[in-house]
Amino acid sequence: MRLVLLGAPGSGKGTQAARLKTQLGVPHISTGDMLRAAVAAGTPMGLKAKAVMDAGQLVSDDILLGMLEDRLAQDDAKAGFILDGYPRNLAQADALDHLLSRIGQPLDSVVKLKVPSEAIVGRCEIRFKAEGRADDNPETVRKRLGIYAEQTAPVAEFYAKRGKLQVVDGVGELDEVTARVKAALRSDSMTASS
Ligand code: AMP
Repeated sequence: MRLVLLGAPGSGKGTQAARLKTQLGVPHISTGDMLRAAVAAGTPMGLKAKAVMDAGQLVSDDILLGMLEDRLAQDDAKAGFILDGYPRNLAQADALDHLLSRIGQPLDSVVKLKVPSEAIVGRCEIRFKAEGRADDNPETVRKRLGIYAEQTAPVAEFYAKRGKLQVVDGVGELDEVTARVKAALRSDSMTASS
């Protein structure tokens, strides 16, 4: 299973991907987690990315593509993957298409978790208090939502035009949302095999 999870910051992509990876037997690849690990390790790339991330902006497409290419080359990603946080703009969606066709691993499904903005702000506030992520402070969340609307929302359109997008209601109990995502994946696999 090769899946892209789309959705605004705080829509539950990370939480759902962590649940689905065990059930689907494929790794959860979060570009945000990879960048945070690079920041924590103090690598040159991490040092460069930190200020951009703290400001709620997007890190450069070149850095992300290189990072993703290395990650997808690892053994565990041969069985598939759940991508969380990538692609974040149309250039990345295009780059991903090329990368996946070059390595012969086209996407099976793209699922967008739909959560209203008011709920997003509340969720990020809770995460800010619990995890202390600098970019979850309310002001930066507003900036990230602006970038999402401008740059990431068109990515959903990109996949919708290719008939690949499934939109799932991301509000509700975790189990309910997981069940909705799995139902969307089942209907994709039925379409693919019919
Ligand atoms: P996330 O954990 O996915 O919300 O990502 C946290 C931050 O990492 C984002 O606000 C960006 O600064 C950066 N980031 C993560 N993924 C990407 C990406 N695909 N392109 C650019 N920046 C990214």
